[in-house]
Amino acid sequence: MKSFAQFCFAFCLATLASFTVQANEEVRDYPLTQVAPHTYVIHGPLGYPSVENQGFMNNPGFVITRDGVVVIDPGSSLQAGRMLLKQMRTVTKKPVTHVFNTHVHGDHWLGNHAIREAYPKAILMGHPDMIKQANDGAGEQWVALMDNSTNGFTKGTRAIPPSVASVDSSEVKVGGMKFRIHAPEKAHSHTDIMIEVVEDSVIFTGDNVLNQTIARMVDGTFAGSIAACDRIAAVKAKVYVPGHGPSGDVTVVTNYRNYLATLFSVVKQQYDLGQADFEMKATVVAKLTPFHGWNRFDLEVGPHISLAVLETEAAM
Ligand SMILES: [Zn+2]
Repeated sequence: MKSFAQFCFAFCLATLASFTVQANEEVRDYPLTQVAPHTYVIHGPLGYPSVENQGFMNNPGFVITRDGVVVIDPGSSLQAGRMLLKQMRTVTKKPVTHVFNTHVHGDHWLGNHAIREAYPKAILMGHPDMIKQANDGAGEQWVALMDNSTNGFTKGTRAIPPSVASVDSSEVKVGGMKFRIHAPEKAHSHTDIMIEVVEDSVIFTGDNVLNQTIARMVDGTFAGSIAACDRIAAVKAKVYVPGHGPSGDVTVVTNYRNYLATLFSVVKQQYDLGQADFEMKATVVAKLTPFHGWNRFDLEVGPHISLAVLETEAAM
């Protein structure tokens, strides 16, 4: 039988070990992919934030310029942002000088905390309405949502919203590279910017484009999302990095546009025939065969139909 002293020693070791793990905790590694000469992306897993995925499910990226690193969407938590920085250091020792956040949804930007922790002078940029909403309570709501859905894994994360506004068609030059902003109106979230890395011919689309998975549309519109797809497809970039799912060529954009446009047009046809959302569901779903295997399709297609009906009515 263990003596009291032995018990205390074992207990203290165990406590110390768990404390040490807690203090250094990062999201587990996902592969770092070079998608263009200066541009890297970590493609997160698909799904909603959960205990299993540690709340991490977006596509953080970074661009290595002559003078420093520009990060796009450093993930959903302090722990996700630290994982991104750890992997970044395997390919560059340059400091992070700038961060773009594509929109207000916290799975994309709560990782700003990790950037600020390591690089206090980094300039954080986002849509003017993203800055406003994030400061007006959306940031705190997302911190709580991530904490709840991961059972506390993201604890310690603080919302650090951007402070520099990125407006439509503006350009930011960093270390000899140009970052062009496309800010579509009323697309995925009403706070969206898409970032074109001009020299690398890469576009980070945020959640205006997804691949192999379907976006929640409660904060957006179908018409605006379709227009956003058309706008960036016309740029003819070599690489498109969606908000979630694998990167690829322009077909990533045209596929997603096809989902949105098919759903929206079939809903309108059925609405004109006098069908309610629940009555038209089978007809709409039958027209979306290429997307049946996409992540979240079964969960989101019903809400999408209801939202498309509301948008159709609002446009009349
Ligand atoms: Zn989003």
